[in-house]
Amino acid sequence: MTRGVGYGRRRRSSPADWSPPDTDGVRTIYRRLSRRYGPLDPPHSDDPLEELIVTVLSQNTSDVNRDRAYAALRARFPTWEDVLAAPLPALVEAIRPGGLAPTKAPRIKAILAKIREREGRLDLSWLRGAPTERVREYLASLPGVGPKTVACVLAFSLGRPALPVDTHVHRTALRLGLIPPGLGAGRAHEAIEAVVPPRIRVRMHVGLIRLGRNVCRAGIPRCAECALVDRCPAAPLFLTSTLQS
Ligand code: SF4
Repeated sequence: MTRGVGYGRRRRSSPADWSPPDTDGVRTIYRRLSRRYGPLDPPHSDDPLEELIVTVLSQNTSDVNRDRAYAALRARFPTWEDVLAAPLPALVEAIRPGGLAPTKAPRIKAILAKIREREGRLDLSWLRGAPTERVREYLASLPGVGPKTVACVLAFSLGRPALPVDTHVHRTALRLGLIPPGLGAGRAHEAIEAVVPPRIRVRMHVGLIRLGRNVCRAGIPRCAECALVDRCPAAPLFLTSTLQS
């Protein structure tokens, strides 16, 4: 695996120092994540529209609060037509357990309104048979839908080889040198999918999240306990700073 991202030389890395990891190195990371945190089964939803709305609710909150918000939403408004027709304050109230309700409620309504306008109904089951690029294009054109949401629908509902980049995936991918230093989460989708083979993309997402939650946390990661310590360009810097503190 290419390890030239600069952390080991104890200076700030830059995109110019970075070169993409080779496929063997990426597969090794994947195998070790599988051994440590597997099985890396992703969540699954049969309904692409449900996955889309769940992903909007998941922004900046925990899985538990997202699930609470979704359950409350469906209990109060059993159909998508009900959600679309709901007065905004009632929708905000229903999804409040998920946080950022005043932002998420109008976003959900705007997405549903656009789908209704285009499709004549609130149903995205046609996405199951559509080519991946067509799905990407369609979802990305909906109001407030970014690359992470697009990748979640592709990966978790349609079984396509996508790798959603959330905060854990972004942090761990940067530290492991899977993506260039400084690359923002939005642009990271394209970069990480370019180096992770399609067959392991969705499970790699799950593995990197578990890595990020368990040892590669924000702040000082627990590199000494990490299954990837000998392959991680960032490890020497963090191990040294831990010893010095
Ligand atoms: S060695 Fe440290 S920085 Fe690298 S992935 Fe593991 S915990 Fe993160």
